Amino acid sequence: MPQTHQLDWQRPFQLQHLPTDGKQFHPNRDEAETEFKALRTEFVALQERLYAEDKQKLLIVLQAMDAGGKDGTIRNVLKGVNPQGVRVQSFKAPSKEELAHDFLWRIHKVVPARGMIGVFNRSHYEDVLVVRVHNLVPEAVWRPRYTQINQFEKLLHDSGTRILKFYLHISADEQKERFQARLDDPEKHWKFSLEDLEKRKFWPDYMAAYEEMLRECNTEWAPWYVIPANQKWYRNLAIMRTIVYTLRDMNPQFPEAQDNFDGVVIE
Ligand code: ATP
Ligand code: MG
Repeated sequence: MPQTHQLDWQRPFQLQHLPTDGKQFHPNRDEAETEFKALRTEFVALQERLYAEDKQKLLIVLQAMDAGGKDGTIRNVLKGVNPQGVRVQSFKAPSKEELAHDFLWRIHKVVPARGMIGVFNRSHYEDVLVVRVHNLVPEAVWRPRYTQINQFEKLLHDSGTRILKFYLHISADEQKERFQARLDDPEKHWKFSLEDLEKRKFWPDYMAAYEEMLRECNTEWAPWYVIPANQKWYRNLAIMRTIVYTLRDMNPQFPEAQDNFDGVVIE
């Protein structure tokens, strides 16, 4: 089986030593794109079964620095999938009402139902990332969240949800190039803000927060995958592989017909 970039939950690691460059894992872009498309066809078929079976659930969590490729991943990976069976949920800064509840309230409401695939564009992990880096709540509040998240994800797992968490790992240089491209192209300005530049100044703090989050919340029931994401084509392939291998393992089946169709003739 190819390298999936699943974090080994027993082995120590340093985020700065985990690769951002995908080329070393796949020498040939054309071949990678061919494999990606074949896997996407399989994904579409497996998703139809999952939906028809109406028993299991799949939750895909995407986290990344700004311009890390969450949007592009969603666009490429979900292309062709029956929209009825997928729900993409983006998490922005919480509303007043959301802030008046515990941090998992808004998350739990939108986890995938039976037969569904849920995709989180950002997630409950923001509550130990941006919240931590910018001191939006004291450490006494955010630190216990690692345990709270693990328990929450265990609950989802025990209720029939497979959980895949992807951190799209880009280098600071790659972010700079992508920001520059957004700056240079007026049609990309909507994707860019001065706030993004402000957050870039905190890069080392974000990396420290990501590293601890990966360490604390990498569980058997909800593993983290650290995807080398400097090359979009490799990122797409690596994520698609893990999704398809997981769905193969879930092995959803079309349900039995509700009626006996023997001898039925349609007039
Ligand atoms: P993205 O950058 O993911 O493509 P966007 O640019 O469309 O999204 P933004 O307005 O940047 O949308 O919304 C995401 C912002 O909300 C991010 O800055 C993120 O850190 C912030 N955010 C998300 N969840 C939380 C949270 N729980 N607490 C504080 N801020 C949060
Ligand atoms: Mg943004």
